Amino acid sequence: MAKEYDAIHNRLFFLQIIVLAVLLAVYQFSGASEKLAGGLTNRFGEKLWYVTNALYTMVSVFGFAACMFPFSYYSDYVLEHHYELSHESFGEWFADFIKSLIIDLLLATVLFSVIYALLRWLPEWWWLAAAVFYILFAVVISTIAPVVIMPLFHKFEPLAEGELTEAVRRMMEEAGIKVVGVFKWGLEEKTSTANAAFAGFGKTRRIILGDTLLSGYSQEEILAILAHEVGHYKNRDTTRLMITSSLLALLGFFIAHHILTALVGLFELGGIESIASAPIFIFSLFVFSLISMPFANMHSRRREFAADAYAIAAMGSPDSLISAFEKLADQNLSNKEPAAWIEFLLHSHPSISRRIERARQE
Ligand SMILES: [Zn+2]
Repeated sequence: MAKEYDAIHNRLFFLQIIVLAVLLAVYQFSGASEKLAGGLTNRFGEKLWYVTNALYTMVSVFGFAACMFPFSYYSDYVLEHHYELSHESFGEWFADFIKSLIIDLLLATVLFSVIYALLRWLPEWWWLAAAVFYILFAVVISTIAPVVIMPLFHKFEPLAEGELTEAVRRMMEEAGIKVVGVFKWGLEEKTSTANAAFAGFGKTRRIILGDTLLSGYSQEEILAILAHEVGHYKNRDTTRLMITSSLLALLGFFIAHHILTALVGLFELGGIESIASAPIFIFSLFVFSLISMPFANMHSRRREFAADAYAIAAMGSPDSLISAFEKLADQNLSNKEPAAWIEFLLHSHPSISRRIERARQE
């Protein structure tokens, strides 16, 4: 069943890439994008270009989300119910969908307004400034996420004092990690899948443990999962991730700059700072992210193995980590043995079978 579920998701992923690419091409070359940008400029005037840019972003993001709605509905609602991973009603699911859409609209509007302002003010160097802004933006979002965004979707409450809370606190103290607390993450009311993570950044960093994990896993298994997260911290994976993301953003914007400059001239679309050519800009970043994804994933899978190794050393044995992996894979319907090329291209985490095999060797 996990193999079938995984295969459907992979097909959907490739199909969505094609649909998105076609939509972007149609938006640009049908003249629809120019029409919207031109209409807004006529309405608000050249002086209020930032209003045009912000409204153009909102209308476009909304339009794309509407076109992609069948995919969202099928993959996040229909499939999740068919495989009995979700027990949300359609109304609850749709409310969450609208909430994420509003958040996406806000984030995209801020991001594009700033990037297009930089394109206007620094036409030669905007890509450098945009990469710096992008990283700062990502840091701000991860800092506020557990306080502002995540509670919109799930209930969080401090984990009741007890043996587990104490053991977690001891583990964090030994590792020298400052966290603001250990929270119970209310997944149960919506899904049957389990998860645990570090969330937040700096002053908001906390441990969140799914109630679905708390009810079905032994204390040793929960601690092994957390020890893996501590491994990421000890190996400075957040810093590594920030450095690789910065470099990728820099390279992506730099390439987009050259593609945008060349195509805007070729198709006579005005200056590169014109929001009307945003579909070309997005398309460049989209292709770049698809090309760089396997390399980013390769790096990430290595970091996952290293965090597993840390967890095994910290726990003194691989047993609890292995049994936690087995349970998580069954509960979350993860394909334990995906095709090698799928794992190479798409997976940021090594397959469960490889992680267990590696853990046994540690
Ligand atoms: Zn990990």
